Amino acid sequence: MIDFWWSMVYDSRMETRVIEVDPLEDCRRIYKEAAAVLAEGGLVAIPTETVYGLGADAFNPDAVAKVFEVKGRPSFDPLICHLPNGKALKDITEIPEALQPLVDKLVKEFWPGPMTLVLPRKECVPDIVTSGLPTVACRVTSHEVMRAVARALGRPVAAPSANRFGHISPTSAPAVMKELGGSIPLVLDAGACSEGLESTILQPCLDEKGNPAVRVLREGPVTREKLRKICKVVKPGKGSDIEAATPCAPGMLKSHYAPTKPLLLHDPKEPFTPQEGVRYGLITYQGDSPLAAQDCWEEVMPLSPGSGRLAEAAVRLFAVMRAMDECEAVDVIVAEELPKMGLGMAMMDRLNRAAAQRGE
Ligand code: AMP
Ligand code: MG
Repeated sequence: MIDFWWSMVYDSRMETRVIEVDPLEDCRRIYKEAAAVLAEGGLVAIPTETVYGLGADAFNPDAVAKVFEVKGRPSFDPLICHLPNGKALKDITEIPEALQPLVDKLVKEFWPGPMTLVLPRKECVPDIVTSGLPTVACRVTSHEVMRAVARALGRPVAAPSANRFGHISPTSAPAVMKELGGSIPLVLDAGACSEGLESTILQPCLDEKGNPAVRVLREGPVTREKLRKICKVVKPGKGSDIEAATPCAPGMLKSHYAPTKPLLLHDPKEPFTPQEGVRYGLITYQGDSPLAAQDCWEEVMPLSPGSGRLAEAAVRLFAVMRAMDECEAVDVIVAEELPKMGLGMAMMDRLNRAAAQRGE
């Protein structure tokens, strides 16, 4: 509760600066300033050729948690990481050898531009960026401002559209101000965005013969016709993935990470009745609930030990779910219901989906 009210007070107090940027002029000072805000864990609205993005330092999970908090999203969605150029791909992805020539071709042909590549991630990419998936979505936009800020930061910028949940994506700085003015420290204003369509999302994979191909996860300006000129295109759900070098549980290959073990949600104030012969593990918010005090748990893992900060819990959620899933002493996972406000809603969405998968 305190966390919630603190974020409300904090939000309404913040002054949002809008800085005009003309990419044709020397704006290095402005890019540096934006990068400094990001490096300190702040959020900056930055234009791309499609919409204005709400950018965070992709390597700072607390900053990325703020993106979901400020947008008021009731769920986590994996975010696209914006890179300054194609070379930076190697900083966050492990491209399997068999796919490297195809990736090189796509990068040469369509970057900078409205193409997003989903590739096996390196461990340096936080779970909250990818929703716990073993892959990360990467893009090099044709908008100089986003690329320049990522270059100045020296790390990728994770950015969804700069609007509150359920609202229309903003294509100008005044539209961003209407959405997020007072909640973020900085907006870079480079005028209206030039493209109407969102980026094409592609996942390089292998076709049924084991040859490199791309799977189109979202249609966009890089059309199938354009793609077919340089590679084979397979339908969503077709073709096989090459696993990331990072070890991952089978459940991670679903559209979001979901544990393979059954998961039950439970009110932290209500007693839990265990079944004979079943070994339970508890995911608790703070670790001090009546539920956590019961002696039926083989393992207890808190999301935000002691302090109970929703942002901290959000950052740890996927890692804790995975750890509990991999814990050999546990057959069934019990997760405490979380406060249904702010990031608690996003976490409850994830947990509800995980609970609904039982028996599938
Ligand atoms: P946008 O809303 O334009 O920022 O695009 C984000 C889209 O990228 C969402 O629809 C995500 O589902 C998709 N996306 C991001 N990361 C991944 C990933 N690792 N695997 C599949 N889709 C992804
Ligand atoms: Mg959006």
